[in-house]
Order: sequence, then structure tokens, then C-alpha cells
Amino acid sequence: MPRPSHSGIRSARWVVVGAGFTGLAAARQLALNFPDDEIVLIEAQEVGYGASGRNAGFAIDLPHDIGADDYIGDIGTAKISMELNLAGQSILKGLVEKHQIQCQFSLCGKYQAAIEDRGIAVLDAYRRGLDKLGQEYEMIEEQDLPTHIGTHFYRKALFTPGTALVQPAALVKGLADSLPANVTLYENTPITEVEYGDKTVLTHQFGRIVADKLILTNNAFAMSFGFLKGRMLPIFTYASLTRQLTEDEQARLGGRPYWGVIPADPFGTTLRRTPDNRLLVRNSFSFNADGRSHPKYLQRFKQRHQNSFALRFPMLPDVNFEYTWGGSLAMSRNHMAHFGQLTSNVYGALCCNGLGVTRGTVTGTLLADWLAGKRNHLIDFLLSSPGPNRNPPEPLLSAGVNMNLLWGQCRAGKES
Ligand SMILES: Cc1cc2nc3c(=O)[nH]c(=O)nc-3n(C[C@H](O)[C@H](O)[C@H](O)COP(=O)(O)OP(=O)(O)OC[C@H]3O[C@@H](n4cnc5c(N)ncnc54)[C@H](O)[C@@H]3O)c2cc1C
Repeated sequence: MPRPSHSGIRSARWVVVGAGFTGLAAARQLALNFPDDEIVLIEAQEVGYGASGRNAGFAIDLPHDIGADDYIGDIGTAKISMELNLAGQSILKGLVEKHQIQCQFSLCGKYQAAIEDRGIAVLDAYRRGLDKLGQEYEMIEEQDLPTHIGTHFYRKALFTPGTALVQPAALVKGLADSLPANVTLYENTPITEVEYGDKTVLTHQFGRIVADKLILTNNAFAMSFGFLKGRMLPIFTYASLTRQLTEDEQARLGGRPYWGVIPADPFGTTLRRTPDNRLLVRNSFSFNADGRSHPKYLQRFKQRHQNSFALRFPMLPDVNFEYTWGGSLAMSRNHMAHFGQLTSNVYGALCCNGLGVTRGTVTGTLLADWLAGKRNHLIDFLLSSPGPNRNPPEPLLSAGVNMNLLWGQCRAGKES
């Protein structure tokens, strides 16, 4: 059952907007840092219905700088980036254990798989980067892959053991259910107007909330609060999930009981076999400049998911998708995020760049620590980020982003 929405007028010292991974982490840590204060956490939907509950569930440990030749780039930056990801993963693991959150959390690693020559070159380059970073991996060749992931589709995969896989909606719901007692979460309370001043007044359909300090953890939606406008790109990506496989289908598929594959090409297909024996396919992107979902894409991309599924799992011709959905990512052209102050008494951890499970968790937590006056090298690193860079004006922006998405998806070839 969702928690009640807010109605009437109330004030609070701390108000956090957006109860995804980032907001749940920020609210929890603020509550721990300020045990005598009340923290209000506001979510437009029910927790789990936003991107944090609708993603592919990879809690990724390793850095992956797509701007660098070896995907690792500057070693100092890569090490801090990995430290951040691991800190986010460890926070989640600790909370899952402490609160017994049933979300299929499993530290089972990930396969990064390739079929095209371009993808194979990416794996070889990334392997060099991982050597530089001193990270463990295993390169798995074509003939051995089916014993891991069933499908004969891929030519090569780079297995890295440190990624955890989760059922993301169950995880965020569990995180919301285990918030400290001094956090009040209002669901189904979309904020529609904001007035800034000494205090911030947040208006919604049924009332107002007045914040001494506002923390924005609503990703690309922060643009409608007047921040990082023209710097973030609301890009949607899409996924489909099959029904549960029968025992016979599981036998025909083969491979390990659960696993996750990310594509060597960033425009390729993510795959998962979940512990409850479903297969998930994620691919395709659309640039929805208004930040809203558009149903026309769902039908189109469901067809693409079906094609990708048929190529990878010819042994499962009768398995249909039970669910198809899309969700919003906040991307920036320079792959940078915002962390810190936005204006007087307003702060944010924004622009997930597609990796919010671990990164959102750690940046939300560290933002709350910074607000409590704590400093460490991770906070200093995040504060020193130049943040998302400026986009070109419309209509150049839409034309450029759409061309890029189209070209990237074509170039991914069979990996899409
Ligand atoms: C299909 C798909 C697969 C993905 N796979 C992965 C993956 O495997 N691993 C990974 O790390 N990342 C993945 N991502 C990205 C990941 O989901 C995001 O990075 C993550 O959700 C960002 O978390 P967040 O808390 O910062 O923002 P969000 O999850 O977007 O949460 C922001 C919240 O703010 C709320 N909000 C917005 N505006 C308002 C308002 N006006 N009033 C009140 N509330 C508001 C929204 O409803 C939303 O719940 C995927 C995304 C998608 C769509």
C-alpha cells in the first residue's frame, strides 16, 4: 500500500524531493545525521514506479569512462569513481542484510558481451583498462559462453565479479519501508510550483510544504524546478520482461540459474536471467525533451525487444513478454553530475548518467554528510566536479541528440 499523499500546510527543516535511490539515501542519512530533526521526503508517484524501481538492477562496481580509449582513463579519477560505486553498493548490501529486504540481491558479477568486431575491440581495450586498475576479470570465449548464459549469440564476454544484481522495485520499496522514524514519506505528491526565498515553498495539488532546506534528488525533473536547465538530457530507455520460464524452457536455455549481461557497445542490449526465471531485455533510447514518457515508443521498442530476444534465444520461440516499460535517465553531454548547492538553501545530487543504483545511493548519502559539515576525499571529489555542461540551443539540440541516438543504435549492429 502506498503511503498517504500530503495535504494541508506543513513546514520542515529538511525536505527532500524524489524518492529514488538518491532521495531515499539522502533522507536516511539526513535522519541519522540530524536525529532531532524531521525529514520530509516527497515522491510524485508510488515508490518503485520511477526509474529507480524500473531499471535493470545492476548495482555496478567498476568505472566505465566511455570517453577514454581503455574505458578507464585517468587512473586517479577511475579509482575514486570505483570507490564511490563500491561505497554505494556496500550501503545497499548493508541495508538489505540489516532490514532483511527481499530483493534478490546477489553479488554474482556481470558479463560484458560482444558479437560485432567493434564490440570485441571494446572488450580488449577495457581489459587493458582493468589491468591498469588492478581489477579481476575473466575473458570467456564463444564456445564456453553457453555454459554461463545459455545463449550461443555472443562471440566473447568479459566477466567481472564485483557487480551485484537486484530486483530494483523490491529494493527501493524495502528501503522506503525501513527509513528511520524521523523521516516522513509522502507518496503520490507531485510538486507543481516552487517559490524560492529564505524558505522554499513547495506547492502541490492538495497543499503546501515549507522547507528551511530543500534537497533535490529528482534527476532530470530538477529542470522543472529551475535548475540545470539546458544542461541535462532526459533520455528514456526501455525494457521488457518475460513470463516465468517453465522447467522445460529452463533446461532448453541452459547456463547458470541467474546472470546479467551488459553490452560491449553502449547502444546495445542488456540482458538478465532473474532468480525467478524470467528473461529481461533492455535496449533502445528516445530523447523526450519534455521529460515525459510517450506511449508511441513503447510499442515500437517492444517489437525491437522481441527481435533481440528471438536472435539470442531461438530455443525459446514461445516465450512472450509479460511487461514492457520505459524510464527516464538524466544524461549530460560531458557525463558529469551535479553535487552540492544549487541556490541559497537548495542543494542537489542530480544527473545520474545512467548508473543511479550505486552512484545515486552514495551521492545521496554523501550530500547529507556534507550538509552535516562532514568532509572526506569522496565529498571533495564530488564537489570539485565541473557538473553537467551546457547543451546547444533548440532545435539544434533535439536534432543533434536524435541523430546521435539513431546513429549509435545503427552502429551497434547485431548488439542492439
Ligand atoms: C530501463 C532502465 C534500465 C536501467 N538500468 C540500470 C542499471 O541496471 N543500473 C543502474 O545503476 N542504473 C540503471 N538505470 C538508471 C537508473 O534507473 C537511474 O540512474 C536511477 O533511477 C537514478 O536514481 P535517482 O534516485 O537519482 O532518480 P530517479 O530514480 O529518477 O528518482 C527521481 C524521483 O523523483 C520523483 N520526482 C520527479 N519530479 C518530482 C516532483 N515534481 N515532485 C515529487 N517527486 C518528483 C520521480 O517520480 C522519481 O521517482 C536504468 C534506467 C532505466 C530506465
